Amino acid sequence: MSDAGTPTGDDAPVKYNRVLLKISGEALMGPQGFGLHPPTVERIAREVKSVHDLGVQICMVIGGGNIFRGLQGSAQGMERTTADYMGMLATVMNALGMQAALEGLGVHTRVVSAIPMDQVCEPYIRRRAVRHLEKGRVCIFAAGTGNPYFTTDTAATLRASEMSCQAIFKGTKVDGVYDKDPVKHDDAKRYETISYDECLAQHLGVMDASAIALARDNNLPIIVFSLDEPGGFRGILAGDGTYTTVTET
Ligand code: UDP
Repeated sequence: MSDAGTPTGDDAPVKYNRVLLKISGEALMGPQGFGLHPPTVERIAREVKSVHDLGVQICMVIGGGNIFRGLQGSAQGMERTTADYMGMLATVMNALGMQAALEGLGVHTRVVSAIPMDQVCEPYIRRRAVRHLEKGRVCIFAAGTGNPYFTTDTAATLRASEMSCQAIFKGTKVDGVYDKDPVKHDDAKRYETISYDECLAQHLGVMDASAIALARDNNLPIIVFSLDEPGGFRGILAGDGTYTTVTET
């Protein structure tokens, strides 16, 4: 796939033609502190639509932390694998919530699950998912990797690699990667770019270590940006905005 090409409508080419957007489950809970907050889900869906309108092919992976995390369950005495399956099921609920919001805005979507559940959504079949993207459908990958002991960050990197995405967009509360917490420190500095190895060595918390290592091994840039900034996602695709790119150099 070429690096530039799809027109933005303003005659400028978009930066990437196929991307994966990773958001945590917590991004969907809004002010209520748990579960899905429909106005927040709709706000994010509008951001996704604005990028979809540019002609960009979009994959999504949504975490499950707003409902259940495996580690949380195992810390309270639950068997880890069972707790992880509960976490994976939580991501399916979030994926269905995002699907409903996107379809409400007229964007065609498919929820594609790593754990088959035919009555609810499609099973993951790589070639079929690629076809959905080519037809302009947003593919929401649910149930993580389908395996316990992983996270949705790793699932995002895996799917982005399999689907030949040109970058992973990691939507967070801040507009990039900082040398220290920008909420607590006024003098925190944002990196324009940072290497995978530096992220790992400094434990910067961009994504978990296995996800960063997988991105590094597949030479997949991770773009860390603020999901709270209206128009931020679209801006970056059109060549604007504030963000950090995690790459090899
Ligand atoms: N999970 C898993 N395997 C995967 C992906 C996720 O077991 O491949 C489970 C794990 O328990 C995790 C939970 O699903 O805690 C929710 O995912 P995650 O914590 O990544 O969600 P986020 O923090 O992004 O909301």
